Amino acid sequence: MAVHVRIGAMAGVVKDSLLFAWDLAANGSLAEGAALKIEEVPLVIYCPSCCEEKTLSGIPNLHCPSCGVPAPSIVRGRELQMVAMEVAN
Ligand SMILES: [Zn+2]
Repeated sequence: MAVHVRIGAMAGVVKDSLLFAWDLAANGSLAEGAALKIEEVPLVIYCPSCCEEKTLSGIPNLHCPSCGVPAPSIVRGRELQMVAMEVAN
């Protein structure tokens, strides 16, 4: 069994912390022994100057990496969602 989750760069969740919490939470539950598969989503902002979506790498500073214009519109990167659960029997 495996549980897939997606965490955005701005979700405020540290992958290692989530893995640690998962082990504790799954222990003794139906999910015991299940693997937690984490997909990390980069932060994507919309630049009003370039009129394009831009992916930020590293520490987000909410400025367009191409032209440097402040870009407060976060398109992706805040999500924390469960994507899928695989159950094998
Ligand atoms: Zn730009």
